[in-house]
Amino acid sequence: MSLSITHLGTGSRGNATLLATDASKVLIDQGFSGKELQRRLRQLEIDPTEIDGIVISHHHGDHGGGAAIANKRWGIPLFSNFRTATALGLDLVGGVTLFEDLERLDIGADISLLPIPVPHDGADNVGFIASRGSGERAAVFTDLGSWTDEIIQHLRGCSHISIEANYDHRRLWEGPYTNSLKERISSRGGHLSNQQTGELLGKVVNEQTKSIVLTHLSEQNNRPHLAESTVLYHIDELFEGDIAISLQDGPLFSHFIGQADTEMLTSGLL
Ligand SMILES: [Zn+2]
Ligand SMILES: [Zn+2]
Repeated sequence: MSLSITHLGTGSRGNATLLATDASKVLIDQGFSGKELQRRLRQLEIDPTEIDGIVISHHHGDHGGGAAIANKRWGIPLFSNFRTATALGLDLVGGVTLFEDLERLDIGADISLLPIPVPHDGADNVGFIASRGSGERAAVFTDLGSWTDEIIQHLRGCSHISIEANYDHRRLWEGPYTNSLKERISSRGGHLSNQQTGELLGKVVNEQTKSIVLTHLSEQNNRPHLAESTVLYHIDELFEGDIAISLQDGPLFSHFIGQADTEMLTSGLL
């Protein structure tokens, strides 16, 4: 009865996150080549044809660049908003199912997703709240330069939160990028720094939050230990769950929500 969240890899060279129940499998984003997606799924003993749908957060290549090939090669249905579909050149007639912000998507037998708009320059980006029916919720949000009250409202009370911790502020500003790129990354429409991610999590983490995964770390401007220690500084008093980091290579681990139901079921209490 549980829903698993497994990052096949996150970062500027490709993102894909698998949500799976006993009955359904959904990918959030497909920023890998077809071959690379197949290789990563094979490590989980999953064939691409088993995927019930790919939801695309936004059109940037590291998130949507491999969606069309997955649709063409394995017939996996695609879901995105209008701007993302047009920017990716997806076939609007038959090639993709369009969704609107805050419109619930039911994919496969039992996975529901709610797309929440997030600020990200030049893109109509969304984060997703996933659930198996009406039970516990998991959040997968990436590529946002800041947050809104709406994001806070939806993240609060999620059992699992995957969120980007893109850069360490000092590393970015002392690093080799041009000033205009540094400004773009740290702007309202860019990416979250470790500190911002910590501040945001500080507003939403509560006793219901069991696991957090930090994603989309910049290989140039971040380090896993910096991301983890900065975030933990902000949530130390609030959070006793599991914190992990998803890097570009994966899959390395899975998290589960709704496991309590499974335990009760197997012990005959339900
Ligand atoms: Zn990205
Ligand atoms: Zn992006």
